[in-house]
This record gives sequence, C-alpha cells and structure tokens, in this order.
Amino acid sequence: MKLLLFDIDLTLIDSARSGRRAMTLAFEKLFGIKDGMDKVNFAGRTDRAIFRDALTYQGLEWQKEKEENFKSVYFEQLKTEIAKPNSGKHLEPGVLELLNELRRREDVFLGLLTGNWRQGAQIKLEHFNLNHFFELGAFADDSENRNELPQSAAQRFSEKTGLQISPKNVFIIGDTPLDIACAKSFDAKSIAVATGFFSYEDLEAAKPDFLFMDFSVRENFLRILAEGK
Ligand SMILES: [Mg+2]
Repeated sequence: MKLLLFDIDLTLIDSARSGRRAMTLAFEKLFGIKDGMDKVNFAGRTDRAIFRDALTYQGLEWQKEKEENFKSVYFEQLKTEIAKPNSGKHLEPGVLELLNELRRREDVFLGLLTGNWRQGAQIKLEHFNLNHFFELGAFADDSENRNELPQSAAQRFSEKTGLQISPKNVFIIGDTPLDIACAKSFDAKSIAVATGFFSYEDLEAAKPDFLFMDFSVRENFLRILAEGK
C-alpha cells in the first residue's frame, strides 16, 4: 500500500489568492488593521504559522482565543471569496484525471497534507468538488510545524486501516521546497510539481525524489508507483 499525501494550494488548485484575501479581510475585521498579511510569506507554510507571523508584525501576541476567533471569521470570508466568479481560479493541469485514476487503484490510499486549517481546506476543495477523493488529512490544526504533519497522517492511516505504513511508502506531493523538506524529514518520498511560484529549477535545487512541470502527463506519475521506488 502507498499513502499519497497531496498539498492543496498550487498543487491541486489555484484559488486565485482567495485564502490570502480572506485572511486579510478577517485580520482587518478582528484587529482593525488593513493589509495585515502583506509582509507574510504564505508559500508552503501552515495557516497557524502565517497567523502568528501576521500578529508578530503588528506587535500583537498570539493567544489561543485570538486564533479561534480568527479562524471562524476567516472561514466565513473564505466561503465568500472562493465563490466569487472571478478569473484565475482553476484546477491545476491533469489533477482531476490523475485523482480519478488513483482512486480506482487498490494499492493507493489518498490523503491531504496541507498547511491549511482543516475547515479552510474543506472549503477550498468543496469549491472544486475534490473533497470526496481524500480519505484522510493532516492540517495546520495538527501542528504549526509542517514537518510534524506526516506523522499525523500516518497515524490516521493506521487508525483507518489497521495497517502500519513505512515512510518509504509515503509520497508527499507539493509545489514548494518546504513540501520537499517535509518529505525528507519523515524519510518519505517527495514529488514536486512546478505549478506554483517556484520554477522547475528552483524545485530541482531542493532535490525532490521526483519532479514534474505539472500532472498533465499522468503516465509519468503512475510510473513512479509502478516502479515501487
Ligand atoms: Mg502549495
């Protein structure tokens, strides 16, 4: 059995920055500060780390209650932002065909490993009708540190199936060097895809096990699984 853990933003979907806009609006609603996310780096990071950075830039302290309030306002904003009929929101190339093919295979278990909070992930995927493909996930709710998320996913896999999974049978799929680093930290296989802000060469420098421009040629992806590497 192989456990495939997909990142969401710019790996499966491009939400045309709905998440960033929704967080910016939520931050303004709660703290009265405009453009509070402007200096914050989002790529490959967890929502909790992003929120904590935004607070730090404003000289505010993190508190559990602040985060819970922020989450509920953010989720409402995100539902609005993702539903807006503007240009640019799309599934990344080949994603739907690949997921459909993977779902039919009995040797593959599909999950998410994302820096999104669980509910934010569900809102984003719901818009693209992708939630039903994934049987488990690890989210920012589990840890602020992305490198702790593979362990959460592996544990959920065990709870669901009664099976143990070896890290070498875990594949972490994402669009940033942090996704690759996350895989390495768990001794999992990394599959990088250059559909985000990082170029093929940028990602190559982070030494992923496998690297694609996108998933439009799904045979290339399926070959990885066939090789059992
Ligand atoms: Mg991403």
